[in-house]
This record gives sequence, structure tokens and C-alpha cells, in this order.
Amino acid sequence: MFAALNYGIPRRAQEKGALELEYWDPRCYTTDVHRTVDDTPYGGGPGMVMKVAPLQAAIAAAREKLPKATIIYLSPQGKRLDHATIAQLSETPELILLCGRYEGIDERLIALEVDAEYSIGDYVLSGGELPAMVLIDAISRHLPNVLGDSDSAIEDSFVDALLDCPHYTRPAEIAGKSVPDVLLSGDHAAIKQWRLKQSLGRTWERRPDLLENRAKQKTLSKLEQSLLEDYKKDSGRS
Ligand code: SAM
Repeated sequence: MFAALNYGIPRRAQEKGALELEYWDPRCYTTDVHRTVDDTPYGGGPGMVMKVAPLQAAIAAAREKLPKATIIYLSPQGKRLDHATIAQLSETPELILLCGRYEGIDERLIALEVDAEYSIGDYVLSGGELPAMVLIDAISRHLPNVLGDSDSAIEDSFVDALLDCPHYTRPAEIAGKSVPDVLLSGDHAAIKQWRLKQSLGRTWERRPDLLENRAKQKTLSKLEQSLLEDYKKDSGRS
């Protein structure tokens, strides 16, 4: 499944030596002929539960290589991943990402081994591998010297707790829709200001919660406040 990480930015991160990935399959740490990693739940009910022993042995093997690793369990019950958490995790040198299957993992393994639980959203996937790949891809974008200028993350959504501005490329007109004049003006200061205004406006329209947080923390500058007021006036909804 993890072959998806052999493309794009995670691939570049690996080629540059900024990211190293290794996998430990809990089935390789079983002792029975069927290589069983799951069992029926105590108390009955549907589904199976991942057993402690194979996972604990797989984690021990991973720890031999990564003695200081933080262990993260990808789980719909974890804290919702966001930009700040990804930025913080990208500075953690060693991570062990634990991927569940079935109904999840025996609670005692979580109590014994896991440092933090993270969710990628309020919906349930069938396994933790895709969430782990989401986490790894997002972390790759933060690792030093991985992104070039062409895919710089500085102006990405959430970096400033704002959504990104709209983007355009050639041709300048499609189906009667033109690129905003300012982007063709060559006036870099005006373009910068237009982008900031669009970011603020989009965030106000689509993610008012982000903007409220910034306003509460008093981190909306005078310029940002006035650009947002202009945006609201332009849209006729001030
Ligand atoms: N019974 C669990 C529950 O409702 O909390 C769901 C188990 S889910 C079918 C199997 C595994 O997928 C989980 O152990 C977890 O590793 C992973 N998973 C599913 N949804 C996820 C999400 N939103 N974020 C992170 N991991 C998730």
C-alpha cells in the first residue's frame, strides 16, 4: 500500500535523505501457522480486534532501530490533525506510526505503547495505512530542502491560519473568464496585497472559525483588518 509514497514530494524527500521509511508487518511477528494478528472481542459483538502480542513484537523490532521514537496511533478517536501538529511532528526525528485494522487495536496495547493518537477527520476508514500516508506526505512538505521554489509551501493554506488565495495560469481568458488584471500588472507589491486580501476574504467566507481564532488571538494586523473590510465591501456583504 505504501507504494504511493514513491511519488512526488515524499519521493523527493526520500531521495534527498530527509525522510527514511521502513515497515514492520505484524504478521511477521506471529507464532502460529496462520500468522494471526486478530481475535474475537471480549464481550462479543461484530468484528475482530488486533491482538497485543504481534503488534508489541513489531513495535519492539522498530524500537531497536528507533530507540527514541514517538509512537503515534492513527485512529478516528485521536486529536484531529492540523497544520500546527504537522509542523511540530516534522521536527520530531523518529516516529513510529501504528496502523490499525478491523475494529481497532486492543486498548491495552494503546495504553502500554502509544504516545499520541491522531485522526485525519471525522469519518472511518478501513485501515490506518492511508491516514499514515497522509501524515507522511504532509510532514514531507515541511522537511528542509525538500520543496523547491516552484512548490513552496510558504503561502499554502493554514500556514498563516488563513486559506490560500486563488491561483491562475495561462491562458489569460477562458470561456469569457479573465485572470484578475492585477496579476498581469507586474506590480509585485500590488499582487502581494491582492493575494493577502483574497486569502482573508476566502477564509472569512469558507472558514470563519480560522479567522475568529486569529481575531481572538489579536493577530489580525491593521493592514489585514482593512483588506478584509475592503473585501467585504467589494462583495456587498460588509
Ligand atoms: N472501531 C473503530 C472506531 O470506530 O473508532 C474504527 C476502526 S477502523 C475500521 C480500523 C483502523 O483504521 C483504525 O484502527 C485506525 O488505525 C484506522 N482509521 C480509521 N479511520 C481513521 C481516521 N479517521 N483517522 C485515522 N485513522 C483511522
